Order: sequence, then C-alpha cells, then structure tokens
Amino acid sequence: MSLATNATPDVNRPGPVRHDWTRAEIGALFDLPFPELIFRAQSVHRHYFDPTEVQISTLLSIKTGGCPEDCAYCPQSARYHTGVEAEKLMALDAVLAEARAAKSAGASRFCMGAAWRSPKDRDLAQVCAMVEAVKTLGLETCATLGMLTAAQARKLKGAGLDYYNHNLDTSPEFYGEIITTRVYQDRLETLAHVRDAGIHVCCGGIVGMGESRSDRVGMIAALASLPAHPESVPINMLIRVAGTPLADQPPLDPLEFVRTVAVARITMPQSVVRLSAGREDMSEETQALCFLAGANSIFYGPKLLTTANPERDRDRALMEKLGLSPMQ
Ligand code: SF4
Repeated sequence: MSLATNATPDVNRPGPVRHDWTRAEIGALFDLPFPELIFRAQSVHRHYFDPTEVQISTLLSIKTGGCPEDCAYCPQSARYHTGVEAEKLMALDAVLAEARAAKSAGASRFCMGAAWRSPKDRDLAQVCAMVEAVKTLGLETCATLGMLTAAQARKLKGAGLDYYNHNLDTSPEFYGEIITTRVYQDRLETLAHVRDAGIHVCCGGIVGMGESRSDRVGMIAALASLPAHPESVPINMLIRVAGTPLADQPPLDPLEFVRTVAVARITMPQSVVRLSAGREDMSEETQALCFLAGANSIFYGPKLLTTANPERDRDRALMEKLGLSPMQ
C-alpha cells in the first residue's frame, strides 16, 4: 500500500486538531505498515508532549461490586459470579488515607470509582465531600460513578472535581454485544453533561472483547469526533475475569493493541492517552511500544478497581529502564 494514505503528513507540522476524522481515514491509519504508524504517532506525540514524561494516576474503588448493569467485561456486575463481594461506599477517612499513600507514591491524580448505574443524590453528596478532601492534598481528582444528570455533574464541579471518567467502551455497532442495560446515547449524554459542567472528560474504551478491527476503528472515530476530544483517553485491554461472559475470549494480538494506541494518539493529539486495565498481563516490551506509540499515562498501584495491577516497584523499574519520569 502507498505510504501516501491520508496524505503523508509533514511530521514537523501535524496540522490542526481535527474532529472530522472519517472511518476510512482511521481505518487507513490502522492499516499502515507498523514502522510508519509508530513514526507518525511518535512525531505527533513529540509535537504536543515531552515524550519522556508519563502522567501517573491512582484508581481507588470507593464502592465495590453489586452493580445492576450487565457490562460483559465487568467483575462488579451483580449478574455474574466472579467472587467480588458487594461493599458499601467507603468512609471519607479511609479514602483520604489511600489518597495520601497515592500521593507519596508519585501519583498526581486520584481517581475514585464506584460500581453504580448512576449515583443516588445522597451518595453523590458523600462523593463530593471526598473530592473536596482529596483536593486539599494537592491531588487532581477524577471520579467514575456511572451515568450523571446535568445537575449531578454541576454538583461535582462545585466540589472541585477535575475529571470524570465515562467510557464509550467500543463502537456503536458492537456496543449491544457488550451492554444491554443502557444505550450508547446514554453515554454520550452523560459525557455532554460532564463537558457542559466544565469538568475535564476522561473517555476511552476496551479492546480484545471479540470486536473486529472495524469496531476498533469505529470506537476511535466516536472518540475523535466528540465535540471536544477527551482530555484523557484510556485504552484498556480486556482483563478476562472468570465468571464474566468474556472470560474465555481469545487474547488480542498485543501489536493490535499498540496500533490502537498509536491511532488514538494521531487522531487525538492533545489528549493524554492512558494505558489502563490489562497492563498486568502485558510484557515490558509491549508497554514500551505503547509509550513509543504515544501513550503517556498509566494507572499506578496494586489494584485497578477489583483486578490486579502491576506492582508499584515493577512500574518504577520499567519507567527507570525506559528513562521515563512522572509528569508533574
Ligand atoms: S462497568 Fe460500571 S456500570 Fe458496568 S457493570 Fe461494571 S461497575 Fe457496573
């Protein structure tokens, strides 16, 4: 194929940030020879970011399990027998202690996740108190609490929330294979409420769920054509948790994961692209390729909600080996 696909860019001048990426253009990026794709992604990355810096976030599950939704990848759904016990919302003091530990381990952002379809107003008041308290430690705050109304988004903004995570998960076409208890449009509406409230958006997806390449194209197209690109774009590799409907999914080729990261970097050049779930099973070489492809954020810490995350020491050793340092 011709390297002129998508009109070979001048890598020193990546051009304006675009919101009109077509699926054909995104598909052509995925199809590029691997070295060409990585070169383009790295060139875009260097234009917007210091390629030696990685933003570090810590994710704490403040309310685990018992979720009424049926997301096929999720061990926290009450519909699947995964061994995850439903717990109550954590107490403020316990959350603060975790936030202090995260800060001393180098995190600049503290994400709080709750397994809800959407928060009840009394729960939201408690989360707002957590956001206010975590901010006093000098950490950026992020929450992922399910669907939000416009009023709830404004309350979180009032408490000082910096980021809200709500993923599109996959392409609009494949979405119904993964979740039936809410629709794509619900997700887009929550994202719009978050954006309208003035909260930064963290929104990405999951690959390796049995979707096709064209679904991965569709997922990136959906993200890159949002009215404003998400400030953070987490790209997750499915963690095949026993008891979930996707437990026996064949693993995705790691190079296809790297390609997805690279295409996210090129199409959303100003966004922080985060390696999220699935790093535990990823080789150091794959992670290094992801950084080369423009990933510049990781979740750091022993637990990612309810699944294992690489030990902090292992992360630190990898960052040292690659000469990467935490983004301030
Ligand atoms: S991904 Fe979120 S909404 Fe879906 S089942 Fe898990 S906790 Fe519930």
